[in-house]
Amino acid sequence: MELKALETSARNTWCPGCGNFAILTAFKSVLKSLVEDGTPVENVVMVAGIGCHAKIADYVNVNSFYSIHGRVAPVAQGIKIATPGLKVVGFAGDGDAYGEGLEHLLFAAKRNVDFTMFIHNNRVYGLTTGQYTPTSPLGFKGRSTPRGTQESPFNPLELLLASGASFIGRAYSGRLDSLKAIMKEAILHPGFAVVDVLQVCHTFFNAYDYYNQKVYDLTDHDPTDFDKACARVREWDYSSDARIALGTFFRKETPRFEERFDRSGMSEEDRRGRLTRMLEP
Ligand code: SF4
Repeated sequence: MELKALETSARNTWCPGCGNFAILTAFKSVLKSLVEDGTPVENVVMVAGIGCHAKIADYVNVNSFYSIHGRVAPVAQGIKIATPGLKVVGFAGDGDAYGEGLEHLLFAAKRNVDFTMFIHNNRVYGLTTGQYTPTSPLGFKGRSTPRGTQESPFNPLELLLASGASFIGRAYSGRLDSLKAIMKEAILHPGFAVVDVLQVCHTFFNAYDYYNQKVYDLTDHDPTDFDKACARVREWDYSSDARIALGTFFRKETPRFEERFDRSGMSEEDRRGRLTRMLEP
């Protein structure tokens, strides 16, 4: 497959220097390798939220679905449950997934439906010109906080780990090779996988210099050990000056939500109806 086949004619409107370009490049490269390994491209579905990140759905020539703000996880789960043969990949921003959509995200982790979420965590609302988000650092000065935030950020990976996510990782838009590697690993993981991608917003929170000094690759780490994963995830609290680990913190094969229901003896029609009703608000 040629990478060109994954391009669209949509005009790219991301700002020059935006970290979203790296995520787009990495995803297309991973998608190409998945297709070459036998995944039919028509079986791939992208789900996006609302925000700068969401334009990625316009720039990749596969089936895609724009959801509403914060609702990538329930839409992705619905698609996967209704059509289990699809490979469902969600893309959300930090305001999108960790703000409006936090409850949906944590319940996706709890359920372990087999889909992947990539969080474009630029730690600012970029599309609406620079308001603080749940992961903006303490004291962040933006459009809604000209004197600096008075709140500390939370650590989304710690929350997700506590909620039962079966795959947790972190990547950085300034490290393309490791970004590609973890994207592929997450997509191939059988269960709910989430990768927090430190995606630099060049316009409203340019953290390239900071991340370039702080990031390091996770080595000497056993991702099957939950306690060790907790400890590594807590090294950096999204505000301190600690070093920032990149890589797979936790990985565990555990029964998927769909499998549990497959064993219940219900007909396929009953099963789908019951699962769909469970996901309704
Ligand atoms: Fe990227 Fe920030 Fe521009 Fe949005 S506002 S396109 S996140 S650089």
